[in-house]
Amino acid sequence: ARAQIGVTGLAVMGRNLARNFARNGFTVAVHNRSSARTKSLVAEHGDEGDFVPSESLEDFVASLERPRKVVVMVKAGGPTDAVIDELVPLLEQGDIVVDAGNAHFPDTIRREKDLAAKGLHFVGTGVSGGEEGALNGPSIMPGGTAESYESLGPILEKISAHVDGVPCCAHVGPDGAGHFVKMVHNGIEYADMQLIAEAYDLLRQGLGASAAEIGGIFAEWNTGDLESFLVEITAEVLRHQDAATGQAFVDVVLDQAEQKGTGRWTVQNGLDLGVPITGIAEATFARSLSGSVPQREAAANLPAHTAGWEVGKDDASRARFVEDVRQALYASKVVAYSQGFDQIAAASAEYGWNIDRGAMARIWRGGCIIRAGFLNRITEAYERDENLPLLIADEYFADAVGAGLASWRRIVAGAAQAGIPTPAFSSSLAYYDAVRAPRLPAALVQAQRDFFGAHTYRRTDRDGTFHTDWSGDRTEAEA
Ligand code: NDP
Repeated sequence: ARAQIGVTGLAVMGRNLARNFARNGFTVAVHNRSSARTKSLVAEHGDEGDFVPSESLEDFVASLERPRKVVVMVKAGGPTDAVIDELVPLLEQGDIVVDAGNAHFPDTIRREKDLAAKGLHFVGTGVSGGEEGALNGPSIMPGGTAESYESLGPILEKISAHVDGVPCCAHVGPDGAGHFVKMVHNGIEYADMQLIAEAYDLLRQGLGASAAEIGGIFAEWNTGDLESFLVEITAEVLRHQDAATGQAFVDVVLDQAEQKGTGRWTVQNGLDLGVPITGIAEATFARSLSGSVPQREAAANLPAHTAGWEVGKDDASRARFVEDVRQALYASKVVAYSQGFDQIAAASAEYGWNIDRGAMARIWRGGCIIRAGFLNRITEAYERDENLPLLIADEYFADAVGAGLASWRRIVAGAAQAGIPTPAFSSSLAYYDAVRAPRLPAALVQAQRDFFGAHTYRRTDRDGTFHTDWSGDRTEAEA
């Protein structure tokens, strides 16, 4: 037994992770259900490092140093369970099974419990960055026990992306914590993408600019506060010309956005925990709406009654408009991240995970899809106050959002007047105004609930729970 780590499941992700381990000097055992993938990995990349290929799972397990560290990188769901079931009888006390696929966190909690009962460590790990990240350094979010992280952590940290010499990998927390944080990462990714798409739409319709010109604006934005992988690739996509038609590439892509489910999981969990992740929810629903073809066809001739957008034709007016969109994008983005970090805090309390939110922002700075300079500011905010109840209430973000507020309001109001849909921009602004409001009309909702369902209410002037006799003489009784 000489391999320090093993990977089973050698499709795109597993193959690249295995190569990443090997390139970083680890001896890596490799296995795949059908051995063709194992053979082609060794044939094509065997010279990149020290691979120990096996055709059977028995030989694969036998080739690993103890405590064995087995990374399972197969299709999420049933296949993951099938592989775990085959592995378990071959393992011994203290061995570590790492599920690096996109598991739903309740499955990870269940699997961790099962394996713990057998004396094995189970580490559900979020991995972000796609194929390229897996090969060159992903952002890695491992759950599981602190004990398993002691031996596994250094290996994962070594192959992860690094920013300023700091690895984009940290122990997230027990059982499902790693996959949970990866799920929220993906939810935030949905929100970020939708916000960028809305900004693009506003610029396109407001300025009447070409896709390529807007690509230039995004490239410019990428040199400031908005610097991020998603803004960078947006500039590239918008400047790309379709070879077949010579049109802007974005104009030949069908406008129906698909999803693989992590956004939906995030929203479902937000509902379960009662955390208003409105930016992520709007982004997820925006994808659903785009794919609602019969509804869109049925609505195509509905009246619009729009007023035009008054963007002046002169350079100064156009520059002001572009700056307004930029500010609105930044402020909405801060809200979306703030909501996502709220969800992590709520889950951490609910499931007993004790997640360090500042560390999460730190490990998202590199390797993953939402990597961005601005995550440094989030880490700093949680360093100032690890129990920060609301990210947008941190001094830095309060100032940043405050400075863009007038722009944000102009954009959301203008978009409503012009009939340009901006669900994520507008719901983020509505969230901001609601969360800062000294008093909400929720008072009326509570009163209505008491009226029809005797659900009781609390009062502003006295402690206790009250009910009003709405069907009789409207007397109030302490419930
Ligand atoms: P796939 O999700 O396409 O899964 C294919 C792999 O699963 C193959 O190795 C296949 O083996 C194996 N497999 C499927 N069913 C079984 C089974 N019953 N028993 C044993 N092996 C099985 O591979 P990807 O590389 O695309 O993704 C791997 C994991 O990573 C998934 O969970 C996916 O969700 C996640 N992922 C993560 C990304 C990220 O950015 N983090 C990006 C893409 C994926 P065989 O060759 O024998 O068919």
